[in-house]
Formats: sequence, C-alpha cells, structure tokens
Amino acid sequence: MKAVIITIGDELLIGQTIDTNSSWIGAELSKLGFDVHCIVSVHDRREDILSTLQEVLGKADVALITGGLGPTSDDITKPTLCEFFNTKLVLNNEVLKMIEEMMTRRNIPMNENNRKQAEVPESCRVIKNARGTAPGMWFEKDGTIFISMPGVPYEMKYMMTEYVLPGLKQFFTSQIIIHKNIMVYGISESNLAEILTDFEKGLPKNIKLAYLPSLGVIKLRLTGTDVNYGELQKDINNKVSELYEAIPQFIYGEDEDALEKCVGDLLRSKKQTVCSAESCTGGNIASLITGIPGCSDYFKGSVVAYANSAKSGILGIPKELISRHGAVSMEVVSKMAENTRKIFGTDYCIATSGIAGPGGGTDTKPVGLAWLAVSSRTGVIAEQIISGTDRHTNIQRFSFAALNLLRKQILNS
Ligand code: AMP
Ligand code: MG
Repeated sequence: MKAVIITIGDELLIGQTIDTNSSWIGAELSKLGFDVHCIVSVHDRREDILSTLQEVLGKADVALITGGLGPTSDDITKPTLCEFFNTKLVLNNEVLKMIEEMMTRRNIPMNENNRKQAEVPESCRVIKNARGTAPGMWFEKDGTIFISMPGVPYEMKYMMTEYVLPGLKQFFTSQIIIHKNIMVYGISESNLAEILTDFEKGLPKNIKLAYLPSLGVIKLRLTGTDVNYGELQKDINNKVSELYEAIPQFIYGEDEDALEKCVGDLLRSKKQTVCSAESCTGGNIASLITGIPGCSDYFKGSVVAYANSAKSGILGIPKELISRHGAVSMEVVSKMAENTRKIFGTDYCIATSGIAGPGGGTDTKPVGLAWLAVSSRTGVIAEQIISGTDRHTNIQRFSFAALNLLRKQILNS
C-alpha cells in the first residue's frame, strides 16, 4: 500500500516552520503497514498544489495532506481541492454548529471568516475537528484516497488518531511492518558493514537492514514486512539474536535507547556510582547523564575543570605533571579521573581533556584530539580519540566515547 504525504505552506519552504507533521504521519502510516513513498512540501500556490495532486492521482493508494486550511486569504487549499475534484463549496450546518460552540466557549465573536470555515467541498466526507475550526476532508478519486487536514500539529494529530487512521485501517487489509533498532557504538560504519556481510546475505527478502550513523552511534534498523504478525516478529527476533552473536561488544541498547541511559541502567543494576571531571566537554557528560530521570541513583556530581589552574587547584593535579605532559595527555586525564573519584567517593569517574577547536591545535595535538579516562577501584583506563574540526560535534563525540569507555569498564569489572 503506497502512501504519499503532502504538506502545504509557504512557511515550510522558507525554513520558518519545521515539517514535523510529515515525520509524525510517516511513523503512524508505517505502523499501519503503508509504504510511505514520498513526502512533498509545496507553497500555498494553486498551480503547485494542483500539479502535486495530479502527480499522485491513481498512483498512490493514499495521499495525506496538511496545511492551508486557515480562515485567512493566504490559505487556499480548500478552493484548490474543489477545483481538483470538480466540486463546489457548500455550508455544512453540523460544522457551523461546532465552530459556533467553540467560539462561544472561547468567548470570541463569530465573523465571516469563521463562517467560511464551515463551508466544505460538496463531494467530500467531512472529518470533524474538535480541536480547532478547520474541518478535515476525505475524497476518493481514481483509486486514490485524498485526506486533507489542518497544518496545526495538535489538530492534525487529533484528527489522524480519532478518524483517519481507524478509517484507513478499515479501508485496507493491512500488511504488517515491524521496525527493530539495535544501537551500536565503537565501530565505524564501513567496518561494521564488513563484519555484517554474511548477516546481510542471510536476510530473507522481506527483512531489510539499514545503517543510520550519528556522532559515532550507529542505529541498525531491521525492517520486516509480512501479513502474519507472529511469524514476522519471530523472524525479526531471530535476526536480532544473530546480531548479538556477531557484534556483542558493540551493541549497547535497542530501539531509541540513548547511550547515557544504558550506562545509567547498568550502574543502577550493579548499585554503583559515577562522577565526572570534565575539561573539553565542559559538563556535557554530566548534562547527558542528568537528562535521564532517576539518575540520582548513580550520579554524584561533576567538576568542570577547564583551566589548568582549576585542574591543579580543585582536582589536585600536580602543576609539574601538566607542564611535563600537557593538559591534553594520558597522564593528566588519568589523574583527573583518579582524584575526582576520590573527591566524590564514587565507584567510577569519567574524565576528559582535549582540543574541541576550532583553534588551539598543534602539530602533535591537533584539533579534535582528546584523552578520555575512566577510573575505578581497580585502576584507570585511558583512551585517545581523534574527531574532526567542528567544536559542537567534537564535544558530543568525546562525551559519547567517554560514556562508552565507562560502559566497557563496568562490563569488565
Ligand atoms: P495552516 O493549516 O496552513 O493554517 O497552518 C497553521 C499552522 O500550523 C502554521 O502556522 C504552522 O505553524 C503549522 N504547520 C503547518 N504545516 C505544518 C507542518 N507540516 N509541520 C508542522 N507545523 C505545521
Ligand atoms: Mg498556512
């Protein structure tokens, strides 16, 4: 079943509004078993809307349209739909009553624009909007269902959940789609693909594998389609088990699990605690950890020791060690981790010291280089990471790499 999403609005094309409607609708349609073929955003312009509708007519099973249904003159979706479906606007008394009630409740006097919103194309099935004043519309032509909804996300989601998705479910005997994500860290995409060559070759036709990398984290997404839910779930589970066998050391979680959440869960399950001593990451690791609810179970605190004076004055790193090896060195970062762990009295401490950039690099210590360390009751492990030149990206990469170092240390202890 092929679906197309069409979003209408000048604001989407000039970058003023992010098209969140499409991603939400795409996710919902795909749960129902639709193959979302494309997402198109067009201006509030008659010719553009008409040509886009013409493009999908008879080709897609469903076209979901949002936007352009407001009461003002810039919104022209409704008259354009009338033109496309060769119909005219008629007053719908039920919709008018709903709008009048809503305006009374909000204590706003009705005007001509509000009344115009109760006019709907004669040939459509009206979809009620209990969250706003613009009704939705369901048309069918040449084997394609066209559904037009308001652009306001809150109104669109209500309409989709209450009427459109159940309606589509009824209309089509669904094919099942199951997505399963396996979260991977600590290996490059190309190396991972090499290791998984045989795994990929062994995938049946109805299960596909996608690599979705972001800042060192790779989301491996398995997507399966079938008509039998139970069978498909079993096949996907088997493939997931094969992945765990193939790359056990690199998998840290599943679905949308964040690395910091998985590390936190590990600490909680072992009743262990952590703190951080951060130079180049500037508290980002502490921020990631504290973004997870319930982190007080395992997180004690952080020191952002950015200047050398803070490293020596607060964390007690000997000045001589810094001048001999430099602040970005295995020796200094290891000592930061060791000393800070003792200050907080935790089981582990993560420490970072690096050159986030864009300035400050040298031939031997270029921008993007960082030393990371994790101290534990049994000793310190340190690791070097080389990232790129973008400051924000580097800080995120250093943070994830440090969290992963902690994860490995917890698993090995
Ligand atoms: P409209 O139905 O065109 O009057 O849209 C009303 C408001 O909904 C706009 O001002 C946007 O803020 C928002 N909106 C419209 N289309 C989208 C979309 N595709 N994604 C997110 N918000 C949208
Ligand atoms: Mg608009």
